[in-house]
Amino acid sequence: MDSVIIHFQEIALKGRNRPWFVDRLVRNLREVTADLDVERVRALMGRIELVLGPSAPWDEVHERIGKIFGIANFARARRTGREIDEITQAILSDLDRTSGATGPARGGVMSFRVRARRADKAYWLTSPEIEREIGGRIKAARGWTVDLRSPDLDVRIEVLPEVVFYSLARQRGPGGLPTGTSGRVLCLLSGGIDSPVAACRMMKRGCRVRFVHFHAYPILSHASQEKVREIVQLLTERQLTSRLYMVTFGKLQQQIVLSVPPPLRVVLYRRFMMRIAQRLAKMCDARALVTGESVGQVASQTLENIAVINDVVTLPVLRPLVGSDKEEITTEARGLGTYPISIIPDQDCCTLFTPKHPATKAKREDVERAESHLPITEMVELAVAAAEREDFFFPTARDTNSETIP
Ligand code: ATP
Ligand code: MG
Repeated sequence: MDSVIIHFQEIALKGRNRPWFVDRLVRNLREVTADLDVERVRALMGRIELVLGPSAPWDEVHERIGKIFGIANFARARRTGREIDEITQAILSDLDRTSGATGPARGGVMSFRVRARRADKAYWLTSPEIEREIGGRIKAARGWTVDLRSPDLDVRIEVLPEVVFYSLARQRGPGGLPTGTSGRVLCLLSGGIDSPVAACRMMKRGCRVRFVHFHAYPILSHASQEKVREIVQLLTERQLTSRLYMVTFGKLQQQIVLSVPPPLRVVLYRRFMMRIAQRLAKMCDARALVTGESVGQVASQTLENIAVINDVVTLPVLRPLVGSDKEEITTEARGLGTYPISIIPDQDCCTLFTPKHPATKAKREDVERAESHLPITEMVELAVAAAEREDFFFPTARDTNSETIP
């Protein structure tokens, strides 16, 4: 096998923007395989061909491209000539070579299906005719049965003007839109279970996600920062470069504690986080903030509190998990691989100075009155000025300066 044929989400990529979307996906695929023996990645009449070099490690290629958004499905494929006999012969000899790897025989009888797509409309047979011709020949040669619903072997044929590709095992891709086609957002990343999932959902919608984490070091340990770094590195496998802003929040919390009654503190912490995040977002030209909030999950996430927290920013706040329950989110986190990192015990700034009974329905007037004793602008400015930037790359560190991080 010498190629990978990649199909993108047809519906999402229709229209005038299509070439641009496809180009973005091609570039993402080139980047993610940059250190592997991949000879070429190119758009080819409604699909993408990735040409594998002789030492390309298929397992690794497979693992990496399986995380690239915008891919509907992909398959390892081989080129052949365009004659029906030639195609059939290539498939049969490939099956001989890979026998055993093509699925279990049912009671000694293997079932199969042939699906054809004709990108070259001038080809002398239609797609159903190609399927019948090749299917008939495979059946005659092997004595297998045809099963259109759930065959052991799924043969796909794609007829292009100068070449035919066939593949024997197609895989589902992650879907979504190619990362980098929807603009930049800034995600408030806590190190908990939810926010990494929220970030990933936005990547799937084509967004470039930057991250901000609020920590209470040196009052508390480094643990939350280390977790967040690990999470960002993992998520970077899907968007290839990431930037994380680390913001010291402990001092600011101490200031709040001095003058704000316990029940209102959590809402105030959140309002400060939002203000600081918005400043950072504007500095890096991010068009929206993203959080892992989900209605009713914890005290700060009642509709009343979400409203009061939202009040302090003008950028849109995207909450991709707003209607999801914890179980759905946890399942998704496991799929992403972030779950085991998220559940490592840590002390992020949320555990610092958290009252026993936070207000679940904070009133705007009370919150504003409590804040009126604080030098808000100065506190925000200081936190923003002290934010530390960290960059992440996948698969390998790249020689980029700060301006070229997407
Ligand atoms: P998560 O699982 O993402 O931590 P949570 O269920 O613990 O969420 P909260 O603690 O109320 O809920 O946090 C709500 C959202 O606020 C988080 O999803 C995240 O987007 C943001 N957030 C909370 N704490 C931090 C932090 N220390 N740094 C950055 N963002 C944070
Ligand atoms: Mg949390």
